Amino acid sequence: MRWLDTVRFKDLHPAMVLALWRIEDIYEAHGTELWMTSGNDGKHMEGSKHYSGRAVDLRTKTLKGVAAKRTIRDAAALALGPMFKVLLERSMKKEWEILHRLADGATPEFRRAFLKAVMASKADIPIGKMTAALNGGDFEVAFRLAVDAWEKNAGPWRNDTSRQLRDVLEKAGQAAEQFLPRSITASFDVTNPEAVRWAGERSTTLLDQVTVDTKRAIRRIIARSFREGIPVQQIARDLREVVGLTERQAESIVRYRSQILGLAARKTAGGDLQDAIKKQAGRQRIPARRGLTAQRIETLVDRYRQRLLRERAETIARTETMEASNQGQLQLWKQAVNSGLITESQTKRKFIVTPDDRLCDICAPMRGQIRGLNEPFVSPKNGAQRTVPPIHPRCRCAVGLVIQRQQRAQDVQFTQSQLNKAFGRKKFSILDSFDAAERADREADFS
Ligand SMILES: [Zn+2]
Ligand SMILES: [Zn+2]
Repeated sequence: MRWLDTVRFKDLHPAMVLALWRIEDIYEAHGTELWMTSGNDGKHMEGSKHYSGRAVDLRTKTLKGVAAKRTIRDAAALALGPMFKVLLERSMKKEWEILHRLADGATPEFRRAFLKAVMASKADIPIGKMTAALNGGDFEVAFRLAVDAWEKNAGPWRNDTSRQLRDVLEKAGQAAEQFLPRSITASFDVTNPEAVRWAGERSTTLLDQVTVDTKRAIRRIIARSFREGIPVQQIARDLREVVGLTERQAESIVRYRSQILGLAARKTAGGDLQDAIKKQAGRQRIPARRGLTAQRIETLVDRYRQRLLRERAETIARTETMEASNQGQLQLWKQAVNSGLITESQTKRKFIVTPDDRLCDICAPMRGQIRGLNEPFVSPKNGAQRTVPPIHPRCRCAVGLVIQRQQRAQDVQFTQSQLNKAFGRKKFSILDSFDAAERADREADFS
């Protein structure tokens, strides 16, 4: 047997040493060297038996094919007896990769649909009437002109979104079939009314959210612009352009303009204001103080607004496509439960994070969290609860299925005599030196 340099043997329970000898015999009979990949080291789930030296991870990638891995797992389970748990951990990497690809593929269409609705709304806002209402101090009329235009175009957008959500959900449900344990064959039922119901509800929730955000953004523009002394004509334009954005984005636009106006009014270079603008607008080119005509300022503000709108469209598209693909997978699992293919009490779900530099501190501590089929995952960072990711806008997390061992035992295909034939007539005597109380909680994880 060999082990990685990172393996720590501290506090390894003597029973695990005996178990490793047995498993080494099995690997050798199969013509494969046994590698231990983890003991007390590494990161395991909270409360994992790894930490008390009662679990080890063994390499299976040297065993070619799923059938070979299962044969070895079954042989080890028989050899070690009921006091040990032998698990074949599936790599869940492919799972989120495929769901991501599905979500990414649908993102441009989602983005386009949202932008189309926003553009149509802007075109429907009568700028002359808007200016007149503002001039007359009739802010409620100005507010309604913008909101009505949005609500008129939001209905068709909701229908587009509902159809797109359903499409991603169904594709994800079908893609997830291949990740079910091999003993379970389930196909995603596209006629299931649940997908239609969910897509309808989700698109309505999304529409309501964007409408609420738009209303807040409009009110924010009205309140701030008059305080800042912005000319009415410009406020009218701002009100039209803020449709589809959030209140925070509306605030950013007002602040951006006032910073540039401040810069233009300076006699000095205004380095402090340039820094402030840079901090706020990021990639936006910092304007030079000289040459800041009124027209140039509005061009800059307009460019900034366009960027915020693109970001908003991107956030909606990314969040909704991930939501739909996670939902499709969950619905496949629920269908499998309903048709009796898997037992809910023996089925758990595992939280999978996308392990790259964009992993945030809300999702990071949720890695490996185990929950029941209908139980929400919880972020220890902010208490956010969701049955499926996304946990927050643009979250890219996924979920994997974990079937517990009792259920797996059904797919042990080998009898003791078949195993004897395969691995020679080795006597796998059970390790009999522990007391009964200890027996239940020893496990050897395969990974
Ligand atoms: Zn996150
Ligand atoms: Zn996440």
